[in-house]
Amino acid sequence: MPYSDIKLRIEEDVDQRLTRLNDELRDASAQTILRASILREWLGELTYVSSFGAESAVMLALIADVDPDLPIIFLETGMHFPQTLDYKEELIERLGLTNVRETPPSEEERLALDPKNTLWKTDPDACCELRKVRPLEPALRGFNAWITGRKRFHGGARMSLPVFEHADGRFKVNPLANWTQEDVQTYFKRRELPRHPLVAQGYPSIGCWPCTKPAEDPNDIRSGRWAGQDKSECGLHIDKNERPRVF
Ligand code: SF4
Repeated sequence: MPYSDIKLRIEEDVDQRLTRLNDELRDASAQTILRASILREWLGELTYVSSFGAESAVMLALIADVDPDLPIIFLETGMHFPQTLDYKEELIERLGLTNVRETPPSEEERLALDPKNTLWKTDPDACCELRKVRPLEPALRGFNAWITGRKRFHGGARMSLPVFEHADGRFKVNPLANWTQEDVQTYFKRRELPRHPLVAQGYPSIGCWPCTKPAEDPNDIRSGRWAGQDKSECGLHIDKNERPRVF
């Protein structure tokens, strides 16, 4: 990296860096955003948090093209569909990914807070906190930035998603923020990527089995997630200070 770039990076504060990156890359291709992020901005400091869900193969393939050794965090909630676990292995093999890290909740906390694995029925926010939010923080230690697969067409709060953002002390990179549903489908076909087996059964967005149903509204791909509840996100992308206190 040229000395002038290193000096610039040291002198920038978070807001300046976000402005520079969004100005430079907000309309760039996902490939360009990933190359700049992995090889220039956060060399050795970047990870991708993947659910290995309905659209995850797109980002995983794009990452594999740049660096198949990039650390990838999979939050092993213990509540995934068996099809998701099989699909994860298939993608690892197919794309040559070498650094997928399974991150389970603390067993001590799980036994104390949800010994029967039924917390999702009574308090899904607490269940997500136990199984996703809390395990992620230690898994992200040592990384200054993480990649997410969120897209604006998912709707809700995601409709105003920037390509680069900063929350809870880390940068987030959203290379697919600008992508449409059609872009995703086209990329699957062009790369001949395997589909998650549940997509063919009407699941366009896939999380844990107790909280995922086939989409109720074909125009809202997340309408099968926590269907019928006042909940649309697991909490990973809600600022620490704005999350409900659940424990
Ligand atoms: Fe629990 Fe459902 Fe959240 Fe999974 S998605 S952690 S089962 S509440």
